[in-house]
Amino acid sequence: MIAISPIPAFNDNYIWLIENNGFAAVVDPGDPSPVIQALEQNGLQLTTILITHHHADHTGGLAALKQRYSAKVYGPARESIKNIDIPLSQGQNIQLEDLGLSFKILDIPGHTAGHIAFFCENSSAGPILFCGDTLFSGGCGRLFEGTPTQMWDSLQKLSELPISTKVYCAHEYTSSNLQFALAVEPNNADLVKYSLKVQQLRQASQPTLPSTIGLELKINPFLRIRESNVIDVAENRSGERELSESEVFASIRSWKDSF
Ligand code: ZN
Ligand code: FE
Repeated sequence: MIAISPIPAFNDNYIWLIENNGFAAVVDPGDPSPVIQALEQNGLQLTTILITHHHADHTGGLAALKQRYSAKVYGPARESIKNIDIPLSQGQNIQLEDLGLSFKILDIPGHTAGHIAFFCENSSAGPILFCGDTLFSGGCGRLFEGTPTQMWDSLQKLSELPISTKVYCAHEYTSSNLQFALAVEPNNADLVKYSLKVQQLRQASQPTLPSTIGLELKINPFLRIRESNVIDVAENRSGERELSESEVFASIRSWKDSF
């Protein structure tokens, strides 16, 4: 049975730790020291490092951890990242024997041009998704390298995963995302209810993650681009009618950039 837990790093990053039988994988280790501490405290052997995209807060610990543990490093084929052993892109499958886990790779460009996600449909913890900085609870990543159309396509791909899929995002951005989500959809009852829960969790210094695809479909404005009230907001802001889905997405995303 695998166990997954967050290793907090920097201000608001989570480096996800996956463990099984004394073996461990980490996802997006931006900082080596909290990872080394967690491995030593729990007597774990790091065999695998998974990387979703090239940003320093996701890759900064890669060289030090790889050298110290001779872990195998999997990462996006379309980004230039030092120390990657196995470059990956859409549709590839990887087997992590010692963790008893396999992942399917999804290309999800938008935040960065070569961003990938790791999805496992049948882990002993159910369907799980590591999506880096593409999908957050209540939000999505900024478009540093991609177009709104690319990001909207990537988010749709993630939203088609089973609703029970646990979503392991790389940042604790939920509270501020929900302030924006409530500005978009003040009358969304699920969103109001979830916001109260998130407030309580954060007051108790608890992580709000993982989320699930089912929950995000109900509360995340960036997955709710086809909802008539979200379309109305986008049309009112842009002053135009008959927006395409990508245009609705672009309008909501650009509002969030300045929110
Ligand atoms: Zn990033
Ligand atoms: Fe990040």
